[in-house]
Amino acid sequence: MKGLVLLAALLGAVIGQETFGGDQVLRINAKDEAQISLLQDLSEVDLLQLDFWMDPVDPSLPVDIHVPFHSLQDVKAYLLVNDIPYSVMIEDLQAVLDEEKQQMQGARTAVPRNTDAYDYANYHPLNEIYSFMDMLVAENPGLVSKTTIGASYQNRPLNILKFSTGPNRPAVWIDTGIHSREWVTQASGTWFAKKIVTDYGRDPALTDLLNRMDIFLEIVTNPDGYEYTHTTNRMWRKTRKPNPGTSCVGVDPNRNWDAGFGGPGASGSACSETYRGPRAHSESEVSSIVDFVRAHGNIKAFVSIHSYSQMLLYPYGYTRQPAADQAELHALAEQAITELASLYGTRYRYGSIINTISLQTAEASGGTIDWTYKQGIKYSYTFELRDTGRYGFVLPPIRSSLPPRRPGWP
Ligand SMILES: [Zn+2]
Repeated sequence: MKGLVLLAALLGAVIGQETFGGDQVLRINAKDEAQISLLQDLSEVDLLQLDFWMDPVDPSLPVDIHVPFHSLQDVKAYLLVNDIPYSVMIEDLQAVLDEEKQQMQGARTAVPRNTDAYDYANYHPLNEIYSFMDMLVAENPGLVSKTTIGASYQNRPLNILKFSTGPNRPAVWIDTGIHSREWVTQASGTWFAKKIVTDYGRDPALTDLLNRMDIFLEIVTNPDGYEYTHTTNRMWRKTRKPNPGTSCVGVDPNRNWDAGFGGPGASGSACSETYRGPRAHSESEVSSIVDFVRAHGNIKAFVSIHSYSQMLLYPYGYTRQPAADQAELHALAEQAITELASLYGTRYRYGSIINTISLQTAEASGGTIDWTYKQGIKYSYTFELRDTGRYGFVLPPIRSSLPPRRPGWP
């Protein structure tokens, strides 16, 4: 085992891609608050290099931790000694990633020449998603256009698609992929774009919506991070901007917004996965959306899409104070989740961010939809897509709700 792990690490170093041979993802079910607190202590031990896929917040929710091979013995001993129940969710993370890569390459034929030939049931690198957008615009010039709202830190265009059937309309915003490793979200965004052009004129609800409102869709909201997940580290979540005074790179773009910025539930440490950044809107990937939303001035709904854990969340995440529209937001979420369950049988939890994922012990400050809600966009929601913890961030597309298995979204 050790030899194999070493070999995998060496190979990885040679081709410049980070590998995770022997790493496991543990699913921990804390029994009480005391055990949650013990898990929080664990997250502060830098030496272990733990990557929390789901944070310890409340005994009712599982805690998923990606544990590097070198820390496995220590972590398992710690759980055993403290009598904290756990199971192994992913036995060997690298094996799952190898499978994912194999599936991507196996499915690869020629570069698709139009959006009908695009393989929606597979993950795609950045250049293919960008060329998908251009094809979609070329095929539907009366309905779809592309706007570049800014550039990423590494100077990649921040492209959004606009679906519109008339001038001066109020709008709905959707973004996917602000956390780069959540690959099922960019894939869902791509499928959603195709579905809009296919369903317009056929599906009464969507047709009615598009006859009254525009839809803006940013599929790759963190392009530097997304490129990096394909070339170097599949598990990358943050932006790719260097932080002065440290070798740790990147800011969590979902902690960088001017809504409780710097409060609990975001880290001040540049090495943390939830590093909030030096100041609110310091990341161009965030500030470009801020500028766009302000300039537009008539966005009525804002949906920011993440994975995983199957939840539909509304503001706030940074404060326990209920949103002024809490009752309406809650009722709408309940309705959406009920309809979703009737379509696919999937169960989504729903509620405000702080009551659903943060509960007693922590807030999540500086998040996207808290900011948009504060701008007066009443219908501000975050989706956490599938699954609930068999694969987590490395969900095979075939097990998502992407076609061909199940036409629909999300
Ligand atoms: Zn996320």
